[in-house]
Formats: sequence, structure tokens, C-alpha cells
Amino acid sequence: MTMQAGALSRRAFAQLLGAGAALISAPQLVAGNFTEPGRTARKSSGVVRLSSNENPYGPSAAALVAMREAFDLAWRYPDEHAEALIADLARLHGVAGDRVLIGDGSSEILKLAAAAYTGPDRKLVMADPTFEAIAFCAHATRAAIVKVPLDASYGHDLSKMLDAAKGAGLVYICNPNNPTASITPKSALRAFLDAVPATTMVLVDEAYHHYAESAEYESVIPLVAPHPNLIVSRTFSKIFGMAGLRLGYAVAQPAAIQRLGEEGVWDSVNIMAIAAARASIGDAQHVALGKKRNRETKARLCNTLDGLGYRYIPSEANFLMIDLRRDVKPVIGAMKAKRVEVGRLFPPLPHHLRITIGTPEQMDAFVAAFKDVMAA
Ligand code: PLP
Repeated sequence: MTMQAGALSRRAFAQLLGAGAALISAPQLVAGNFTEPGRTARKSSGVVRLSSNENPYGPSAAALVAMREAFDLAWRYPDEHAEALIADLARLHGVAGDRVLIGDGSSEILKLAAAAYTGPDRKLVMADPTFEAIAFCAHATRAAIVKVPLDASYGHDLSKMLDAAKGAGLVYICNPNNPTASITPKSALRAFLDAVPATTMVLVDEAYHHYAESAEYESVIPLVAPHPNLIVSRTFSKIFGMAGLRLGYAVAQPAAIQRLGEEGVWDSVNIMAIAAARASIGDAQHVALGKKRNRETKARLCNTLDGLGYRYIPSEANFLMIDLRRDVKPVIGAMKAKRVEVGRLFPPLPHHLRITIGTPEQMDAFVAAFKDVMAA
């Protein structure tokens, strides 16, 4: 982990010892003659994987070039590159560098937040269903976990979460929410942030930020300035197509960044991921193309499902929750037997099937298998 938070970085530590460390320039992040990666989705063993909300088109061409150029740096610790990425992210979000912490995927940010702010007498409040990872992390701190069912529109029920937040260490809000792909309206989220006790931290997970197109959605990163108890997490795993590289980050006020960093390990983010991320940030076209492809393929799938008479939760993400009107569990198994991997069971919604929006070809394969399975 680079020098920012409470943790001392390897480089700063070396400097303290008088060793210093030579700075080397960041790799040239220039796209060469790379074929655009996602023309055809990456193939993996004939299995159509629609289970993990990955981006089937992969990283941007510029990111692939940057990683190749970073091969020569693999022997170095990533400190100064991490600092450069933090500066890029700070610029991207219009904040100072001491408001950004990078992690080994946004999963690491979630873990740091649970470690820093939950414990035997500091409960975690979260929605149900939502992305479960933070509950596993809070379990390790022996925190009580309070699950508040989503409201009738599949938004976070923020008035109930506010009641539950009394005495809580951390409230987790996933927006857009996984697995429902639904959003929590911006006015409700603003009011919640104004009302929640200052002693309770709020982590808003914006992993699917880029896919949300509703006018009711907004990122709360600009609200970090007036809210010392707000942490926002983002990831390079979704729109940037870098799930295997592992890189996420938090934006929060310096005291929170410091506290999160105290729980982290040094240099948890590798130099390849950093190189790819820096190049990705500069490739706005890749983001725009990813959004367009997702929007179009999702609309096509919804159209097909409409024709087949299936309802689904309106999606503001790169996945869709389809109401099967029957138990999803055997359907998950039957789809797997047809080499189509779909989302897991989410207990509060036992009749819903979560499908990642893949390429049009992958969705055709899904629809063919789905029709067979549901007709059986
Ligand atoms: N947050 C949400 C809502 C997710 O759905 C996921 C993964 O699917 C993550 C965080 C973890 O992402 P990563 O650790 O790859 O950044």
C-alpha cells in the first residue's frame, strides 16, 4: 500500500531508514496497434459465464498496451506508480490525493471498512438482498449484522436503515444494488446522509456506477466533502473490464482514508493493475462503448423476455434479475448442465434469476438454453 493513510509505505519506510528509492517514470500509456479486445468476447472453455457481472469485452486497448509496457517494471515495488494512480483518481474526482485509497479490488476497501468500523459493539447495517461480501468481513470482527429488506421498488429502505443505524458502526449501501440492479433515489440518499449520526460511517458501494442511467441516480462522491462519515467505493472490475487484475478504491475525507489505511497491508495493488488503471482512466471511449454495448444488449434481452412473458426488475447495471415465477435453484443447475453459468441464489428472492449482460452472442446462447430449461 502506498504512503497515504496511517500505514507507512515501503518506500517511505526505506526513506526513513535513509535508503531512499529512485523514482522511475510511469510507463508510456499509449495505445499501439492493439486489436480492440472485445470485438468477440473472450472465450473460456466453451462455457458462457453470466454469473459474476464481469465485462466480457475486457480491458481497453490502451490498458493492454500499458500492461505490456509495465512488464519491465515487474521487479519493482509499485509505490510511486500507486501514488501516480492516486493522483489520477484524485484529479478524476476533483478531490485532493489524501482523499483516495486504492485497494486490491473494491473488496479490499469493503474489508478495511468492516475492520475499521465494525466490532462486537458496533453493528453493521445492510440491505437484504445486497452484495454479501461486507457481511463476511463484519462477521470476522464479531459484529452484529442487521439486514433491512429492500423496499417495494427494490431501493434501500433508508428510513428503516436510519432507525437501525442508531449505535451502528457502519451502514453499507450498494447503489446500484447487486443483485437487484436497482437504484436508491438520490433525494432519499442525500436525506439519509444528512440524518445519519456522525458517529456512524456510511459506505456507499458504487461498483456499477457507470451503468446507471436513471435521472434518479447520482454518485455521492461530491457529498464526501460535507460528510466526514461517508466512504464511497469504486472498482475497475466492471466497466473497465479488469476483474482479474484486482483494483478498487475509496474516496473519503482524510481521517477516514487514514483509518482505513491503518487496516491495510503495504503494496496490496500490483503494478500491472496500476498501469492498466491509469491507461483506462484516460480512455473515455472505452467507457462510452462499454455503456452503449451494455444498454443495447440489455434492451435486446429485455425485448426477448417480454416476448416470452417474463418480468424482470428494471436494471441500472450490467445484469438483470428475472422473475421465473418458480424456484430458481434447480434452474441454476439445469442452466449449468447446458454450459451457461448464471447468478447464485439470493435467499430473499428465491424465484429470481440473476443474469450478467454479456455479448449479444452470449445472450443468444443464454436465451436458447433458458427456453429449453423452462420448457422442461
Ligand atoms: N461491490 C459490488 C456491489 C460487487 O458486485 C462486487 C463484485 O461483483 C464488488 C464490490 C467487488 O468487486 P471487486 O473486488 O472486483 O472490485
